[in-house]
Amino acid sequence: MHNPTGSPYKNRMQRDATMKISVIGTGYVGIISAVGLANLGHSVTCIDVDKEKIAKVNKGMPPIYEAGLQEQLQSALSSGKLVGKTDYASISDADLVLICVGTPSLEDGSMDMKFVRAAAAQVAKNLSGKFTVIAVRSTVVPGTTEQIVGGTIKSISGKITGEGFGLAMVPEFLKEGSALEDFNSPQRIIIGCNDEKTRALLEQLHSRLNCPKFFTGIKTAEMIKYASNSFLAAKISFANEIASMCEKMGIDIDDVMDGVGMDSRIGNKFLVAGCGFGGSCFPKDVKALMYAANVLGVRPILLNSVMEVNKKQQAKLVGMLASHMDVQGKTVALLGLAFKEGTDDVRESPALIAIERLLAAGAKVRAYDPAAMQNMGKIFPQIQYAQSWAECLKGADAALLISAWKEFYKPAQEYKKALGNAPFFDARRILDAHQAKKAGLQYYCIGRGEK
Ligand code: NAD
Repeated sequence: MHNPTGSPYKNRMQRDATMKISVIGTGYVGIISAVGLANLGHSVTCIDVDKEKIAKVNKGMPPIYEAGLQEQLQSALSSGKLVGKTDYASISDADLVLICVGTPSLEDGSMDMKFVRAAAAQVAKNLSGKFTVIAVRSTVVPGTTEQIVGGTIKSISGKITGEGFGLAMVPEFLKEGSALEDFNSPQRIIIGCNDEKTRALLEQLHSRLNCPKFFTGIKTAEMIKYASNSFLAAKISFANEIASMCEKMGIDIDDVMDGVGMDSRIGNKFLVAGCGFGGSCFPKDVKALMYAANVLGVRPILLNSVMEVNKKQQAKLVGMLASHMDVQGKTVALLGLAFKEGTDDVRESPALIAIERLLAAGAKVRAYDPAAMQNMGKIFPQIQYAQSWAECLKGADAALLISAWKEFYKPAQEYKKALGNAPFFDARRILDAHQAKKAGLQYYCIGRGEK
């Protein structure tokens, strides 16, 4: 029958059919994908080797903090569309498997593939005679999906790629802090696959998400993810380098970038100066791409500078404080521990560097974060954790603001009342510098020099 839309589906019912999906890994990416897909009507099994995480999931307690996640998880559980498991048995009946395990950095900057390898091996051992699509959602360097995931599945199951099973790479672009929103309203979906059957299934899977879908090869999809994150990281380092000049020239970086961003070729996002980029993605992904470039004999000059600027920037706030006072024996309050607001993720957070340096200089550190204190407590149990921003600032000799949680946006008078004459160093520019001055607050922020 002639199909004018070019869609592989003959009718709407077929297009909208629900699937059996197994999601491997219940971290930031896995749990968001699992809950998002379950609430689109698919039957989802979350699989994780971490028994505690799975027990939490089954009780309706998200293993990570993300606004709105608890309600959505509970709704998926009560509709019977989602269940957590520590075994891989659900794979035998799955239409689709999404691999969402971690790919952390090794010492040399390359990625540790042990979780991806282990997940692929477990998937392979549990495949049945059914054609199942195995899609990688973890960020992996070009070649990994075909060589490591495809290769492992082929060698263990004896199946042929594209015939016995489908292989794909569907990179994840969620932003922690707005992850559910990003799942439900993505800006684009990149689908890397090399055969028609796999393409058709993934087209069906994403049919209810209204955004441009870009079908490409597997290696290209892998590279799109790296190139996107590296470009965003480069924008941040660029803004930070210009900010360092602005500080010396008495120019406000925000005004500069407002003007720069009006050019549609440049765009106005991610041109924000601060304490550098952190989190589980940008630093790791830029390092992995640099490693891959070096292996290929391509010198990553630009990416190297992006990381160098970032390293300097992450230490800048503590440097500003050190130029004001010797912190030995002083109490320094830290507002915000997560690498950014809206998440409990402290991986590569600039707060880690701040705490490390403050402790090394003999300061007493007291910290507050609305969501990330438990995670930071595992790394720095020796610092004090406050129950509120006010308790954190009380009697402090200085304060540093690292992540811009909504609750930190307060009138400058409130900071003046809490801090008295103690200085306030702000990496996120949550206060208006003129208002802060008017309130009598000793206020210093990144990217704004005194005129
Ligand atoms: P994470 O560390 O939060 O979660 C990974 C999960 O996988 C953990 O719960 C771990 O227990 C589980 N796991 C490990 N081995 C397993 C196995 N063999 N079987 C089942 N479960 C296993 O990681 P994350 O932040 O969700 O990131 C996952 C991947 O997605 C990474 O490659 C990351 O670069 C990429 N990514 C992350 C983000 C983000 O914002 N966090 C965004 C886009 C892409």
